[in-house]
Amino acid sequence: MRVLHVCSELFPLLKTGGLADVTGALPPALAELGCDSRVLVPGFPAFMNNVIDKELIADLGAKFGAADVRLYLAKTPDSSISLYVIDAPDLFDRPGNPYADADNHAYADNYRRFALLGWVAAQLAGSLDSEWSAEVVHGHDWHAGLAPAYLKAEEIKTGQKLAASIFTVHNLAYQGVFPYRVLAEIDLPIWFFNIHGLEFHGQVSFLKAGLFFADKITTVSPSYSREIQGEEQGCGLHGLLQARSHDLSGVLNGVDPAVWSPVTDSLIAANYNTRSVAGKLACRSALQEYCGLAKQDEKPIFAIVSRLTEQKGLNLVLAGIDEILSRGGQLVILGSGDAELEAAFSERAAANPELMAVQLGYDEVHAHRIIAGSDVIMVPSRFEPCGLTQLYGLSYGTLPLVRKVGGLADTVTDSSLENLADGTASGFVFNGFDVAEFGAAVRRAFALHARKAEWKRVQKYAMQQQLGWDAAAKAYYELYQQVSN
Ligand code: ADP
Repeated sequence: MRVLHVCSELFPLLKTGGLADVTGALPPALAELGCDSRVLVPGFPAFMNNVIDKELIADLGAKFGAADVRLYLAKTPDSSISLYVIDAPDLFDRPGNPYADADNHAYADNYRRFALLGWVAAQLAGSLDSEWSAEVVHGHDWHAGLAPAYLKAEEIKTGQKLAASIFTVHNLAYQGVFPYRVLAEIDLPIWFFNIHGLEFHGQVSFLKAGLFFADKITTVSPSYSREIQGEEQGCGLHGLLQARSHDLSGVLNGVDPAVWSPVTDSLIAANYNTRSVAGKLACRSALQEYCGLAKQDEKPIFAIVSRLTEQKGLNLVLAGIDEILSRGGQLVILGSGDAELEAAFSERAAANPELMAVQLGYDEVHAHRIIAGSDVIMVPSRFEPCGLTQLYGLSYGTLPLVRKVGGLADTVTDSSLENLADGTASGFVFNGFDVAEFGAAVRRAFALHARKAEWKRVQKYAMQQQLGWDAAAKAYYELYQQVSN
């Protein structure tokens, strides 16, 4: 089975969020099942400068506003996965964030940049590479949303279906919506601009194109696949998602143990495993030292590793800081995003340097240090398609404190008395998006932490969860077989 993943990020070369972790881990997991999957990405500098064994596949000339477009086949340095990279300097050779300029304004030509990605994907289902063609094109998020549309346009034009298509929603809130006029520049039939097509309230939606034209839609957890069919979380697309509910399924993301395992992680102070968590104490102590926090062993360290956005429920954390600090707990935050949240957290940390530390920005090593060294990782999201941070927390025996929503609800079980009695507790879960419920979950974490033996039992159970990518890879492989028959 030949599958082409189409995406804009790929760990370890380029990552702004969980999408990169998924696209970095899924193809190798599929390869284990004998699935020949390749990845197509835009030629951002992070890709162009770091891939190896580049081989020119096609010279595409001028396309979508770029004077000179070339397609290369290459490899990532540390993986055997083959990567197609679209070299189009006019569109992709820009420093920094792949989607926005230094002032965080989305690039005005994003529609052309990501139309090119979708268009090349469809060509790779045809004869663009004489030695390989995709049987299934698997697009990830709005950046790849036009791939199924180009495939459909080709099918209508020639009467021949080049490849089946799957579209995975990693976050429905990011939609890639552009004015109607862009349609004239991206080589799609004008009549695709239809409510039964890629039209969304008078504009062109790349996300809707993916949802409408793909043969099957997946999202990254079973709960989120249900939630997005309702008005509250459907971001205006719940009607379409309801109509396509028979083609929509949720496949839970996994954890790549080559990157996130306390047993082998080379970025942390000491390794540990389910049988002996002594190494975790060394990680804890190293975290306190690195952050300049007071050394204490008695009270839990709470942590956040997150994009600082409205989605992540960080206003609850801001309001709950006193609940944590007044009980002697410590709080470590790593994140970047919303300027007000950045300032508010930094201010609180400056006033309580022994108890609270904030680092702004993106830092992979510090993320590992925190996940290994803290006791409770908090993900109190308003909505959460899957969430990887809580999965990393489980693997490292850092109990997740989460809101019962999306993938968080599917992966963490609250330490209620009955769950503790049953041995199924793995963290702390609260329901309503509200400060009082968040605060109660924090108090539950303190209460359990004071009962050392019970905390250890929950920690061990959390670390024993089977979170690898194999189950997800199997589910996707089955889907590929279904759509390609
Ligand atoms: P999302 O994709 O919505 O950002 P996920 O929980 O699915 O959320 O994935 C987030 C990923 O990004 C995790 O791998 C997490 O460790 C990482 N991450 C988030 N913020 C930072 C940061 N500031 N520095 C390093 N890694 C981060």
